[in-house]
Amino acid sequence: MKHDQFLTEMIRSELVEIVGQQYVSIGESDKLVYSTDWAWMPQMWLDRGQRLHPPDFIVHPGSAEEISEIMDIANKYRIPVVPWGGGSGSQGGALPIFGGILLDTKRMNRIISIDEKSMTVTAEAGIIISQLEWAVNEKGLTFPHYAASSNCATLGGALAPRGTGTVSTKYGKAEDMVLSMQVVLPTGEIIRTPPVPQHAAGPDWFRLFLGAEGTFGVITEATMRLDYIPEARYLRAILFDDLTKALEAGRLMMTRRLEPFVIRLYDHASTASRVKKILGYEYQGAYMVIGFDGDPELAALQEKKAMQICSALEAQDLGREPGEKWWEHRYDFYYPPQNLKLPWMYGTTETVTTYDKIENLYWAEKRAVEEGFADLGIKFIGHFSHWFHWGVMLYSRFIVEDPPEDAQDALRLHNQIWNTAMQAVIANGGMINEHHGVGLKLSRYMRKQYGEAWPMMLKLKKSLDPNGIMNPGKTGFGF
Ligand SMILES: Cc1cc2nc3c(=O)[nH]c(=O)nc-3n(C[C@H](O)[C@H](O)[C@H](O)COP(=O)(O)OP(=O)(O)OC[C@H]3O[C@@H](n4cnc5c(N)ncnc54)[C@H](O)[C@@H]3O)c2cc1C
Repeated sequence: MKHDQFLTEMIRSELVEIVGQQYVSIGESDKLVYSTDWAWMPQMWLDRGQRLHPPDFIVHPGSAEEISEIMDIANKYRIPVVPWGGGSGSQGGALPIFGGILLDTKRMNRIISIDEKSMTVTAEAGIIISQLEWAVNEKGLTFPHYAASSNCATLGGALAPRGTGTVSTKYGKAEDMVLSMQVVLPTGEIIRTPPVPQHAAGPDWFRLFLGAEGTFGVITEATMRLDYIPEARYLRAILFDDLTKALEAGRLMMTRRLEPFVIRLYDHASTASRVKKILGYEYQGAYMVIGFDGDPELAALQEKKAMQICSALEAQDLGREPGEKWWEHRYDFYYPPQNLKLPWMYGTTETVTTYDKIENLYWAEKRAVEEGFADLGIKFIGHFSHWFHWGVMLYSRFIVEDPPEDAQDALRLHNQIWNTAMQAVIANGGMINEHHGVGLKLSRYMRKQYGEAWPMMLKLKKSLDPNGIMNPGKTGFGF
């Protein structure tokens, strides 16, 4: 946004009246820090010495009421409002691409109540996930959204893009754990969704805010379901020669309701590269980790039944140690020194589909990417990490170790590779994303993903956010 100094001061003084002087910044260093999240594109752009569009104002609100008043200002001056949690999103969802007000929610980090009978916690949305977890752990409970980014991501940031944690296969995605939310609408009303998520009092409109990534309003508070800290946790690793059989083993564990808390299946390429590098195992095949938890007797029986499925599919039992080692190092895959990092070009083109389509989708995407960009020496690796009763998520990644130096060329190539991957995904019945969100990166595929249903989404957006102030340019919506 272009403001002259007079208008900037006008807006700043109005923001200061709401939240206080120390909670509004127009400082250059703050602007730089808040101009990028964890997406590859802006990180690369900065790395190559280019500038990103900064926010005009960084505001740290202390309550839903303050956010409501901030919405009034944004609507009056027609300036964007971009919610920001931990800024750990990988899709550019929190980038202030049109400037405006960047709303950092982390001051809103209070735990309001823990209900041990209903096993719920109510907290403000800016709380860091690990802090929420530590608080409920003191009661012998757990918030089982174990995202690899839990130390830097917020509760609101997990709900807004429909995040998924390591144990989602048993405990569900973040969106499955939410009972109710408080939301500030783009027009400033503070609303509460019904107190429980399962009922028959009309359509499930509260879900509109899950996956909207801040384009339908700001989540300010949420009541989340908790679980008991499991008494036992058994992990085991298995090796398959054949991906088809490995996928079938996972499908049977899910459809027979054996309740694994994790099934992590690495394709041959990931087993040979990532598993070898991070866990130090040199296996040829598809490496799978399975885990069962809870009551020790029940978990042991579930594991036994799972192993019967695996051995009927000619898998090799590698025992507990490589499963436990994986659990211990499960986050190392995403952090220095083991993570994918610049100057490499990479992208996580994760997707989800039903069991009947998943293998075709995997091969179609792999072929399209590897054959389409063979001259770049591109690598395509994947693992299947979040399993449902009906299908599974594919966490596929491409890696180019020697990308173009020039920032514009690199950005163009990144988009071309992504286009190729997404075309293969959509053509094979997959969704463009399972848990990282749409953000800016996937915004342009939303019309294609939803086809004739897309105009309905545009109408919803228009009615909730008539001036288009909320996080413009994201999840397919313009400014
Ligand atoms: C090392 C690493 C590991 C990761 N592992 C996982 C993982 O295991 N599982 C997973 O799901 N993701 C993972 N991610 C991606 C990312 O961390 C998650 O999407 C996370 O939930 C984002 O939370 P955040 O608070 O950082 O949100 P941000 O990045 O700040 O925001 C994400 C989006 O949500 C919107 N938003 C934020 N807060 C609110 C709010 N209160 N109301 C409305 N909209 C809001 C933002 O505008 C933006 O569109 C990982 C990222 C990194 C860097």
